[in-house]
Order: sequence, then C-alpha cells, then structure tokens
Amino acid sequence: MSLLAKLIVRKNMPELPEVETIRKGLEKSILNKKIVQIEIAKKSPVKGNAEKFVSEIKGKKFVRIERLGKLLVFSLSAKKYLLVHLKMTGQLIYAAGKKVVAGGPPHQKFWCGGGHNLPVINPDTLPTAYTRAAFVFSDDSKLYFNDMRRFGYLRLAGEAEKNKVERAYGIEPFSKKFNLAEFKRILAGREKSLLKAALLDQALIAGIGNIYADEICFSAGVLPGRPAASLTEKEKAALFRAIKSVLRQALKYGGTTFRNYANARGQKGKFTEFLKVYGRQGMKCLRCKKGIIQKRKIAGRGTSFCGNCQK
Ligand SMILES: [Zn+2]
Repeated sequence: MSLLAKLIVRKNMPELPEVETIRKGLEKSILNKKIVQIEIAKKSPVKGNAEKFVSEIKGKKFVRIERLGKLLVFSLSAKKYLLVHLKMTGQLIYAAGKKVVAGGPPHQKFWCGGGHNLPVINPDTLPTAYTRAAFVFSDDSKLYFNDMRRFGYLRLAGEAEKNKVERAYGIEPFSKKFNLAEFKRILAGREKSLLKAALLDQALIAGIGNIYADEICFSAGVLPGRPAASLTEKEKAALFRAIKSVLRQALKYGGTTFRNYANARGQKGKFTEFLKVYGRQGMKCLRCKKGIIQKRKIAGRGTSFCGNCQK
C-alpha cells in the first residue's frame, strides 16, 4: 500500500462514492437469501441488545439495500431495518467460497493490497481478528462485518426509528431534487459557516466527507476556508457542478475497481490518481503548476488547497 493510501486509511472514513459502491456490490450478492445464522464477536458492534438483534434477524432476508449519506440501510423482510455505519475502518465483505465482494478501507494485515476504498482481499484470511459479526446465508455464503478501530456499528431499527434517522440526513447529492437553486438555499441557511464546514455537514448534504470536500473546492477553484456568505453566484454554480462531477467520477472509479478487484489482487488502486488536491500537500499544483498545495486545519479537519489558483 502506498504511503498516500495509508494516510487516507488512517484519517478518513468511506464517503458517498465508496459506500454507494459497496451498496451496489452487495445488492447483487445478498438480496433475498435467507439468513440462517448471525455470529457476533465478544467485542460486539451491535448497538443495543445483541441477543435480540440476532433473534430478530435470524430467518429473515435482506430485500433491499439503500444508502443514506454514508449509512447503509438493509431492509429486512418484516419492516425491520439493519443500519450499518462503517465509520473509519469498517468493512463489509461478502464471501461465497472463493468469490469475494468487499468494501471498506483495507486493514493492512489481512489485505494483500488495493486502494483506499476498494481493497483486494484474500478469501483465505476470513474471518479476521477484526471480524465483529458474520451473517450466514442458507447457501453457506457469508457477509462479514470487520472493523479494526470499532467506531462502526450495526443497529436494528423499526420503521419509525429508521424514518427518524432518515430525516436527520440532508439532501442526497445524486437526487433530482438537488439542483442549483436548492444548493443556494442550503448555503443561504449557513451564511456564517465556512464553505468546508457546510460541505461536511451531513444534515445539509449527505455523503461528502473530508476527501471529496477538498476535491470539490479545488475543482471549483474556491478556497475551502471562505465564509459561505462570501461566495459569488458564479462560485456557487461552480461548486454545485463540482459536487456532482467529483462524486460522479469517484463513483465511476469506485465501481470500476469494485468489479475488478477480484482479478486485481496485489495491484495498487487507482484511487490516488483520481485525487487532485487531497493528500498532495507540499507538491506542485496539478492545475496551475505554480502553487504548492498547502494543508491547514479548516472546520476542524486537515484541509488541502492551492493558495494560487483557488480564490
Ligand atoms: Zn493551483
């Protein structure tokens, strides 16, 4: 794993494109399979009573997988929902014999390589020392939840609880409702915030994290430390376009790697090639070729930008 990839793993949780990629991969693998057993490790990732969690899910099927920002919502056959947040180091790995579908940051010891979001996994090492839960399906395939740092969680929710969680999330950047007028309205409500803080606020726009916030600001040519109130109409429009294009590109990239990872064992992920500003501090700016990428703490997060071509 490259140094850059290691830095990313250490400091950042999966963001919308990574979680969406995981969602799509699992959608093809686990839907409508009967869950015959659930194994929970001593260091349980379950929020609430683990025994109740197991008894309520056992015998059911996952019928749908949705995403709310960075949260995965698995609908169970019975109006119950399994909420899964990967946080910093959570992984969801589906294994059917030698076929493995995985997502989440690599845990160095157990992965043979790969990029940030889409590591290459060795099926022979499952379960790992970091396996916190495993869902066993009737065809003997398994869905593992691994988490090294244990910030991630599994939570069983009813309809009302799930709706409450849903309401706490802001607009989905890929939804049709997210247009320029809506983006301007969101910014107008947060005039006193710094741009970076507004982009990171999950209650405003769901799914943008530290990496993509920096990439979006760079793409739009706007400094992330600017107060939202100072943005011109032109800059707002550029930021809006950047949100869509950066996330779409990342998703496309994630999807590509996701499909290929099984064959790409040992190959370095292309994720770092996609990044234009994040993790490039001290290096020459790829766009203006004059500025040196700087890193400062903005909105409480390490933020990379070019002081020359970002205004
Ligand atoms: Zn520059």
